[in-house]
Amino acid sequence: MIRVRFAPSPTGFLHIGGLRTCFYNWLYARQNKGQFVLRIEDTDQKRMVPQAIEGLTQTLKKMGLEWDEFYQQSNRLDIYQKYVKELVANGHAYHCFCSSERLEKVRERQIAEKKAPQYDRHCRFLSQKEIEEKVKAGESYVIRLKVPEKGMGHFFDSIRGKIEIDLANIDDQVLLKSDHWPTYHLANVIDDHLMGITHVIRGEEWLPSTIKHILLYQYLGWKEPKFVHLPLLLNSDKSKLSKRQGDVAVEDYLKQGYLPEALLNFIALLGWNPGNDREIFKVSDLIKHFSLKKVQKAGAVFNLEKLNWLNGLYVREMNSDQLLEKILPFLKKSKIIKKIDEKYFEVIPSGKKVNQNWLKKVIILEQGRMKRLKDVEKLGYCFWNDNLEYKRESLLWKNFSVNEIKNNLLKIKTILANIKEKDFQSETINQEVLEQIPVKERGAFFWPWRVALSGQESSPPPNEIAEILGPEETLKRVEKAINKL
Ligand code: GLU
Repeated sequence: MIRVRFAPSPTGFLHIGGLRTCFYNWLYARQNKGQFVLRIEDTDQKRMVPQAIEGLTQTLKKMGLEWDEFYQQSNRLDIYQKYVKELVANGHAYHCFCSSERLEKVRERQIAEKKAPQYDRHCRFLSQKEIEEKVKAGESYVIRLKVPEKGMGHFFDSIRGKIEIDLANIDDQVLLKSDHWPTYHLANVIDDHLMGITHVIRGEEWLPSTIKHILLYQYLGWKEPKFVHLPLLLNSDKSKLSKRQGDVAVEDYLKQGYLPEALLNFIALLGWNPGNDREIFKVSDLIKHFSLKKVQKAGAVFNLEKLNWLNGLYVREMNSDQLLEKILPFLKKSKIIKKIDEKYFEVIPSGKKVNQNWLKKVIILEQGRMKRLKDVEKLGYCFWNDNLEYKRESLLWKNFSVNEIKNNLLKIKTILANIKEKDFQSETINQEVLEQIPVKERGAFFWPWRVALSGQESSPPPNEIAEILGPEETLKRVEKAINKL
């Protein structure tokens, strides 16, 4: 059975890159009827961030990436000790008593000699007696991996093929720290083995560590899993994806109203391509079509415009009930809407009392222009506020004079005032207005009318806004515009 894992260290929020690693693992498990393990790698106590585990698990749940098994390495410390003892006993690892001052000096010397800094293996050849004495005297030590002094090491990466590495360049990696906690390398290999992980699918940044892991598998007499290193994520200028050029935390995307399905669709394509130009994949499609074999080697560029486009598509797919349910939390959080009771809401900026249907109408009207759910806060400006702020000049159109525009608005006002309240529907309003204005000058009527109702340079058509505002508020706004001119 295929068993894969996502193994984040709880050092902060879930990064977009982490989400991709997690998702590829999850997809691989789901498409092969395998199992997906979530393993928290929290053996580096210094780098731990409080609440990070809750943060990570909550984000994964919001994204719909549920796990079959959960482990936390800090609960498994005894297990690692056992294997360290075995490695030392078999001569594959050794005690190192070097102080940090000494290590620093060695490092400085190597840098001065233009050599790559590496542990100089000072303690590797201590006698058993010397070691026992030092341990007895209570000297602090770490346990290091005994890397062969020369020769080539190699392993296979499913994406990159055979990888060969000169072992002379590999450091005697610390496996157990002086506080007796294991390092990432040790705990990671032991757990991958004990948890029966068949495929290690992780970011490319772990490629250089893999040779150390291979040595551990050999020394412990274990079969190694298959390794799949996913390409780096890049900014549009091809630098490594970083916070400086935009958001990298998954939560930041969710907070702006990117939908989990759209985010997953987007990140699935960061490194994998289906072999044709299809771009829209629901999770269920991905379970069918995703293939590790089609993951590329080259870095994948994170293109925010594409994400916006995809998210817009997913937003437009929702019906009014679904959209309202998703959007309400945004409107509440930004203090635009407050719930009054089961049926009514207060629009806080205007103080108006509205019902669900009214809200749905607004949202459906803006749906086509929304890229992210949060956009509704700005897009719906003219519905949340009655006192619109806009410049007098915004009402003007092409080379029409102020007076002409004013007269056009007066005409619009008369037309609207003559429509009965029960007929105040966008279609009827449109018909009435079109019938009574000259065809050639439509723009000179519709533009100022639209600005009068929306206060914005771009918005839905005025008749549609008018229907939602109702006759009274619509007429008020037209009048206000007339007075501005
Ligand atoms: N704990 C490592 C990380 O934070 C896991 C790397 C791996 O998957 O082996 O990314």
